Amino acid sequence: MNAIEKIEVDTLVVGSGIAGLQSALDLADQGYSVAIVEKAPSIGGKMISLSKVFPTLDCASCITTPRMASVSHHPRITTLTYSTVDAIKREGKTFTAAVTRKPRYIDEKECISCKRCEEVCPVLLPDEYEVGMGAKKTISIPFTNAIPQLPVMHPEHCIRCGACARACPKDCIEFLQEPAPVEIKAKAVILATGYETTPMTAKKQYGLGKLPNVISPMAAERLLAPHGPYGRVLRPSDGMVPGSIAYVQCAGSRDKSIGIPYCSRVCCMYAIKQAILLSGSLPIADITIYYMDIRAFGKGYEQFYNNARAMGINFVKAKVARITEDEKHNPILRIERQEGTSGPEEVKHELVILSQGLVPGHDASSFGLGTQNNDFGFVKLSDEMVSSAVTAGAGVFAAGVVKGPRDIPDSVVDAGSAAMEAANYMRKL
Ligand SMILES: Cc1cc2nc3c(=O)[nH]c(=O)nc-3n(C[C@H](O)[C@H](O)[C@H](O)COP(=O)(O)OP(=O)(O)OC[C@H]3O[C@@H](n4cnc5c(N)ncnc54)[C@H](O)[C@@H]3O)c2cc1C
Repeated sequence: MNAIEKIEVDTLVVGSGIAGLQSALDLADQGYSVAIVEKAPSIGGKMISLSKVFPTLDCASCITTPRMASVSHHPRITTLTYSTVDAIKREGKTFTAAVTRKPRYIDEKECISCKRCEEVCPVLLPDEYEVGMGAKKTISIPFTNAIPQLPVMHPEHCIRCGACARACPKDCIEFLQEPAPVEIKAKAVILATGYETTPMTAKKQYGLGKLPNVISPMAAERLLAPHGPYGRVLRPSDGMVPGSIAYVQCAGSRDKSIGIPYCSRVCCMYAIKQAILLSGSLPIADITIYYMDIRAFGKGYEQFYNNARAMGINFVKAKVARITEDEKHNPILRIERQEGTSGPEEVKHELVILSQGLVPGHDASSFGLGTQNNDFGFVKLSDEMVSSAVTAGAGVFAAGVVKGPRDIPDSVVDAGSAAMEAANYMRKL
């Protein structure tokens, strides 16, 4: 059993998406020490896997990577990746978090990120970073610009051939590594556990996971990323360049039948962004967005939407009831238009993207910090009119989508206010 590693800091940040990274940097730059705990093997959250960002179409990883690097090199920030926060207790003015570092099965201190282990490993797995569209080795660095550049081994798929151990020049493969406990003491906590996209289990009629050419918006982000799985946009079933692409808006949002009546705020804009990017990479493709109404709420967003219309993207006000496919795996949408003609009709496309909504990434109330959730599981603020970061738990602040759906600029602004509120709180202790 590993001895408990003890870390003492001013603030614990849980989650390292753009909100967690920014709040950690804002606090550390003011002189506070921070520990940031991330359950994934790399910091960066969802933003690092996006293609470009609306409405500027700046490269997402070009914005995220420098922040990730600043966090990992900051002298006042300790980063724990591939680690879970199991419980946080408040004792007087101090929070004590029990954290488990999951085993990567390598010696992290000795590893020089040479990737020799990855090169020789003979076992391929679906790559979750590429939403299953690419393959990775059983021992591999999670993605090109991951931070830290450390491989993770998946022992359940390892065939114990020993090739990685023989290839490693630093002798750092450790097949018998165990989870390592870490105790973090902090004066304040910032929750930044973000989101997942709405599971489509309650919307089986859309065929996600069953129909190969019905894909998630995260898969579309990867197809559009310059370093994505295929290097260009190809549909999954047969590698064909799709000539007709459709977006189904509000797939898992504004839908009382699945218990998600709220608007996820970012889906209209990311669908428009992806449609614009698609029309750049596939100039002759026909792109249609089936929508209820377009919510272009932010600075420059309405102009972005108008640009998409002017570029020839079709916006069809219609509800999509279900999706089936023909013998060539072309998705067939059963739609009902909300304007003009009435009655259901069927339209065929070659690739369909479901604009899935956002749901909480983690039930933050499970940490037992006295925070409360709203009706949909996002962290509730004490008084939204007074502060955008203060929760019902004393010394506990929230940043980013953990509080409800929002875009990147709003998550960054939030991160600043969570850092500011945490600093104010710590000054008064
Ligand atoms: C398809 C798509 C495209 C988008 N495109 C854009 C765009 O172009 N422009 C834009 O402004 N917005 C866009 N967004 C929205 C954007 O992704 C979010 O606003 C932003 O990423 C939110 O960041 P966050 O830090 O709050 O959450 P996240 O990025 O979700 O980060 C949360 C982090 O917390 C970690 N975590 C979760 N639970 C735990 C736990 N218990 N312990 C430790 N770590 C934990 C997660 O692993 C994750 O790394 C898009 C969203 C989607 C779905």
